[in-house]
Amino acid sequence: MDHEATNQQLADAASILLESSYTVAFTGAGISVESGIPPFRGSDGLWSKYDPGILELDRFYSDPKTTWEVIAQLFYTFFQSAQPNAAHLALAEMERQGLLCETITQNIDNLHQKGGAKTVHEFHGNALRLMCIDCQTCYRPDKQLLQQLPPRCKCGQVLKPDFIFFGEVIPEKALQASMHAANNAEVFLIVGSTGEVFPAAQIPVIAKEKGAKIIEVNITTSLFTPKITDILLKGKASKVMSSLMANIKRLKKE
Ligand code: NAD
Ligand code: ZN
Repeated sequence: MDHEATNQQLADAASILLESSYTVAFTGAGISVESGIPPFRGSDGLWSKYDPGILELDRFYSDPKTTWEVIAQLFYTFFQSAQPNAAHLALAEMERQGLLCETITQNIDNLHQKGGAKTVHEFHGNALRLMCIDCQTCYRPDKQLLQQLPPRCKCGQVLKPDFIFFGEVIPEKALQASMHAANNAEVFLIVGSTGEVFPAAQIPVIAKEKGAKIIEVNITTSLFTPKITDILLKGKASKVMSSLMANIKRLKKE
């Protein structure tokens, strides 16, 4: 049946979250769609318009100018002006209330941090940092820096966005923290992720194998749903997360 999350499901999820002493959020591009950032996959996704090969690491090194012309358009025209939506804010609020320990995000848009989240593991890096490929100096991608492509470091070398390209390994710190979360969490709250991107998609699966309950928020089913999800809260992330917060508040008062 194709229905939105029911009141009973929302109440059940809220009570699981209130009882858990170690909850982890795991987010994908879906949480940022309502902030105006399109996902990669799906009919309106970026890969329906662009060649994913543009994010191959080898291509970046062999032709940084052409690669930068596309990524500047893809990621730097709207990422910086995008604002966190109610779902990012709800997760940050859960963290403040002690109901959420940390967020593992596959997103590179910095919106969790902008929304007030404190412990965020950037599984795929962050577009709002540019790093020199030689001396590792870090820059913010401001307009002036991006006026001439590729942007360059003071040392003369090319700057690369600090998110991972195809062919790059997951940042060690984020991977370790995510594995720790997967091995120890009582509840995983997945928001807006297809479960198709590896190795990220393996993290909630490991959590489930180690005994975590899985609550999933998505407008539709994902690869996670039949495999590991205990409660699917169907609907847009902002609406579902706001309803979930309202349920948590109500149960806290009772
Ligand atoms: P993904 O795994 O991130 O999946 C997107 C999921 O979001 C889909 O399951 C879709 O049904 C769901 N969704 C769409 N709108 C939603 C909404 N309003 N509320 C709740 N769920 C919603 O897949 P992808 O887009 O192919 O991304 C691939 C990788 O690239 C991921 O690591 C992703 O995080 C990253 N990416 C990041 C950004 C970003 O930083 N905002 C944007 C595009 C892709
Ligand atoms: Zn440099």
